[in-house]
Amino acid sequence: MLADKLKHPVFKLVAEATAETGYPAWVVGGWVRDLLLDRKSKDIDIVVQGSGIELAGVVEKKLGGSAKLVVYKNFGTAMLKAGDWEIEFVGARKESYRSDSRKPIVENGTFAEDISRRDFTINAMAICLTGSDFGKLEDLFNGYNDLKKKTIRTPLDPDITYSDDPLRMMRAVRFASQLNFTIHCDSFNAIKRNASRIKIVSMERIMDEFNKIMLSPKPSRGLKMLKTAGLLKEFFPELEAMHGVEVVEGKAHKDNFFHTLQVLDNLSEHSDNLWLRWAALLHDIAKPRTKQFDTKAGWTFHGHEFVGSKMVPRIFKRLRLPLDDKMKYVQKLVLLHLRPIVLSESIVTDSAVRRLLFEAGDDIDDLMTLCEADITSANEYKVQKYLDNFKLVREKLTEIEEKDRIRNWQPPVTGEDIMQTFDIKPSKEVGMIKTAIREAILDGVIPNQREEALEFMINEAKKLGLNPVDKKINH
Ligand code: ATP
Ligand code: MG
Repeated sequence: MLADKLKHPVFKLVAEATAETGYPAWVVGGWVRDLLLDRKSKDIDIVVQGSGIELAGVVEKKLGGSAKLVVYKNFGTAMLKAGDWEIEFVGARKESYRSDSRKPIVENGTFAEDISRRDFTINAMAICLTGSDFGKLEDLFNGYNDLKKKTIRTPLDPDITYSDDPLRMMRAVRFASQLNFTIHCDSFNAIKRNASRIKIVSMERIMDEFNKIMLSPKPSRGLKMLKTAGLLKEFFPELEAMHGVEVVEGKAHKDNFFHTLQVLDNLSEHSDNLWLRWAALLHDIAKPRTKQFDTKAGWTFHGHEFVGSKMVPRIFKRLRLPLDDKMKYVQKLVLLHLRPIVLSESIVTDSAVRRLLFEAGDDIDDLMTLCEADITSANEYKVQKYLDNFKLVREKLTEIEEKDRIRNWQPPVTGEDIMQTFDIKPSKEVGMIKTAIREAILDGVIPNQREEALEFMINEAKKLGLNPVDKKINH
């Protein structure tokens, strides 16, 4: 009996409402799974044998104004919002599928039919909220056992389950990755057989699950499963293309797929930022395209950071990911991911550090985190050496930033200033002078100060045949 675990006051009220309406009800699915796993969860799903909307109405009255009820007549569901809890009531239903769509034909059904249409045994458990059975676990498919064994398994024939709604294949991998479970081999083989049916699922849905895999504690687990199951190539061919090793004249390059996964796992130990994780996933995405073999140099991937950053918008568009600052952030990190390495290998000049600060701006710390994650050598001595070098780069970055304030650089002399000083209209010359000032600051020719920049401006303008008119300008 789990009665004492049902702490939320709504459960008692549902119990009363079941007595009044005569409709039995259960809390089902993810909430029950998470309760048994001791995971936090805010969405409560309640299945009612009878009208979910009617029962929800009775519960709302009992809550007396402290909750808001939203009814979705078309779906036959009602949502009760109380604080940050969302409680959804739905009548028990059964579903039948057609081959061309993952949207089923839905009819009213019994509790057992409702439970059987669920994706995995661990998601098919329910706790009764009615009468003397209040708190009783209903576990028709041995979900509790699978929870203990950390197994993902479908209640019914996996081939039918996955073919009916191919999104479930993504969900299987997602739960396995999120919860550190394994997918039962019959289930996994069924996914392999049905992988190509993922096509009928919208990219938004696929990405919802994919991003949950990306956010799991060790994303490589899920990504490897997607690859082995044959799902990855269906929706993310660029990532699939990173897999494999080519050998020429006895020289092999590393497998960029597995290297990428290791970088992603390393990074995930330090950051929960989804888009930084995406930058890790895509940092070497252009390696297959830029790969060349040179008899002297061996394998090279020249320019993969440029080509990679150019690939990002197309990939994001196709995957229906946001095309806003988040994408630009990923692009920027892909483009810059080799720069700190270059800095750490040569004697660092202040000007190289200023340039990196200028280009990375506020994302400099994330860039350093990515670069540190990119060290995947098996040689511990080497790893330590690289980490030490990056530590020096970080120190240098802090030192220069304190001195020169380049990170959020605003030109000390504006285009307005230039136009006013020389009494000229917006023109090529204004741009040239602005650029010259910026370059001088980054190169350390002049400090990042208004006074020096104005002086430099006068000299620069002279070269272009411009002389200051006699107007006052603020110094
Ligand atoms: P989370 O909320 O962490 O994503 P969840 O298991 O609660 O996990 P939801 O998408 O909220 O997932 O779905 C709630 C429940 O509905 C699931 O536990 C499962 O019983 C059922 N379910 C959801 N999606 C499907 C599906 N595609 N096929 C079958 N049953 C599903
Ligand atoms: Mg849920």
